[in-house]
Amino acid sequence: MTETKVRWTCAHDSYLINLASPDDALRARSVESFSVELRRCHALGLDALVSHPGNYMDDRASGIARNAEGITAALEAEVGPTRLLMELTAGQGTVLGSTFGEMADLLSRIPAALRRRVGVCLDTAHIWAAGYDLVTDYDGVFAQFGDLLGFETLGCLHLNDSKAKLGSHLDRHELIAEGTIGEQAFRRIMTDERMATTPKVIETPKGDTPAETDGRMLRLLRSYAAG
Ligand SMILES: [Zn+2]
Repeated sequence: MTETKVRWTCAHDSYLINLASPDDALRARSVESFSVELRRCHALGLDALVSHPGNYMDDRASGIARNAEGITAALEAEVGPTRLLMELTAGQGTVLGSTFGEMADLLSRIPAALRRRVGVCLDTAHIWAAGYDLVTDYDGVFAQFGDLLGFETLGCLHLNDSKAKLGSHLDRHELIAEGTIGEQAFRRIMTDERMATTPKVIETPKGDTPAETDGRMLRLLRSYAAG
């Protein structure tokens, strides 16, 4: 960061971690791995750690409770500057956190004193696959987000177009403006004052020339911001 203009950094935790697992041994191992991730982020002074809610496997309500307990245990064990951002998911299989309401429920189960260290990461491809229609109901989707989670919880945006259909629950990222979401929703986000200072990350396909492709995506998004 001292050598670049980068002013905000985040990490993503391992996909193998499942804090909602009904299996005691797996859950204990997940809490330990997750705590170590958090410890590394604190040591590096990262601004945020993005983490996916777990898979409930057996029943949803118990899974949410276990997930919140796991997050709470890790936050209690590892105190530091990094904000934990729980990422909204596409809702494939038994994964938790694909609706704003369920994410709000999960966060509300974390003790109030720790909750200020937690926020959310909104991935456009995930919420689209989860059924939030960013194309024909942009205002409605973000009104719901504001009501149920609040923009103060929004710590990061993952800007990805999608290869999957609205409501398909499939997590398939696509290049910006080349997928089923299309250009307009990204133009709205890039000019939305509520998200003007929210860090935005791309996780779009890299192709054969990753640096060139990423550069093209970033220039495209910046051109939307310029109007
Ligand atoms: Zn993402």
